[in-house]
Amino acid sequence: MVSAQIDHLALYAGLSGYPKIDTTDPRHFPYLLSSAPHVEDLGGKWAANPNYGNDIVKMVQDIQSIKVEQEETKNTLKDLENHWAEEEIEFIVEKGELKGYDDNTFRPDQPLTRAEYCVLRARQLGFVKKKIISSIKPTVFILDPGHRVDTPGKRANGLLEYEFNEDVTRRTGKLLESHGEVYYTIETENHPYSEMTAEGRSKNLNFRTNNANQIYDKAIKEDKKVIFISMHANAASNPTASGYEIFVYKMGGEAHEIAKHIYNAAENILGVGNTIKSRRIKEANFAVLRNTKMPAMLIEHEFFTNVEAVKKLKDDDFRDLCAKHIKDGLVSYMA
Ligand SMILES: [Zn+2]
Repeated sequence: MVSAQIDHLALYAGLSGYPKIDTTDPRHFPYLLSSAPHVEDLGGKWAANPNYGNDIVKMVQDIQSIKVEQEETKNTLKDLENHWAEEEIEFIVEKGELKGYDDNTFRPDQPLTRAEYCVLRARQLGFVKKKIISSIKPTVFILDPGHRVDTPGKRANGLLEYEFNEDVTRRTGKLLESHGEVYYTIETENHPYSEMTAEGRSKNLNFRTNNANQIYDKAIKEDKKVIFISMHANAASNPTASGYEIFVYKMGGEAHEIAKHIYNAAENILGVGNTIKSRRIKEANFAVLRNTKMPAMLIEHEFFTNVEAVKKLKDDDFRDLCAKHIKDGLVSYMA
């Protein structure tokens, strides 16, 4: 077949001895139409189109120019030629473990800095920058139902303060379960000291704060965040006293910051500042705030000594909202 093609081309070119009688070219002509010693000469002679030869030459040139371009982009580093490590450097660069500089140099004899070594090793080990989804630590909520069933002076208008505190504490705990770990400072059946005496009340306060601090010590080792909330309803000798307030040990700290979020939620959800008097965030030297190691708040939801306010404290829907505003405030703080 190769000899046939050569005979065919030779015929086109008009070489002496052509047309040939003895040829394997099946398309060999017995006569010579014209001679075309160059490809450009084919047009108008062997081909009807006068540009035929020139078009072919142009196509060949186009193909050649594409090849040249590919070769140029392959080797972008200008200062590797004839370097003793040229092949090894090109191998490493192709692997993506080291790159050249912006000016397309590799600077093969420049010393490697410690930072460059770390980048090199990290790339070798497959390091991929992780997108930080959230910097929020897992959170532990310690909920404290204030007082006890037998704490003196905590009943008015048919409501025992502890009954409200205990109920709202458990409702809040249920809502917080999907946002972190929930612990309680006391369980109903776990009540070691009678609160009928000052000594018993003091021991119970220590029992709560010790419990909370033990949970805190463990959680901190596990790099968790801990927040303490003591649940209360308020009392006053003045029966017209009313309103909502949050106590922290010191203003300006993290507890104060968390309290602001809970306070905002109280305004939106409980109607504090509207249907409930706003008594704001305040400092107080309470044992559960003073003796706890984690940010701690004590929330006074309303006054059970107030005939109107106590209706809310007894109301099932209002208690749900009390739990919800604490959960929403904490979630907002953690966001
Ligand atoms: Zn109380």
